[in-house]
Amino acid sequence: MAEVKEGHDEEETIREKLSTFLVDLKEPTGFAEIVKAMSLDQAHMHPESLIDDINHVLKSLKMKGIMFHILPATCKKCGFAFKTTKMDYKIPSKCPKCKNSLITPPMIKRKKETR
Ligand SMILES: [Zn+2]
Repeated sequence: MAEVKEGHDEEETIREKLSTFLVDLKEPTGFAEIVKAMSLDQAHMHPESLIDDINHVLKSLKMKGIMFHILPATCKKCGFAFKTTKMDYKIPSKCPKCKNSLITPPMIKRKKETR
């Protein structure tokens, strides 16, 4: 996929918006809600690049001590739950169990402060 250099400023803005959005999360939020909240046009964006942004923002918030849970993606057909590594947001393309490709994307949940 070709990189468009002039999109740089826009990318920064998306990450800033994402960061604000995630810090304010009140309940577990899925990919579709994030797309909506970022007011991105789903038809004109690459999910991979938004996923990159999500992971980037999750990492930088973690450095500030703001932690999140990633709730596993599940198969819409058989309910198979995909394993998640702690702070890595990704959307699986296929269920290993039933080969179905309708996957409910993982949800992001703000971790409660322990203090
Ligand atoms: Zn399945």
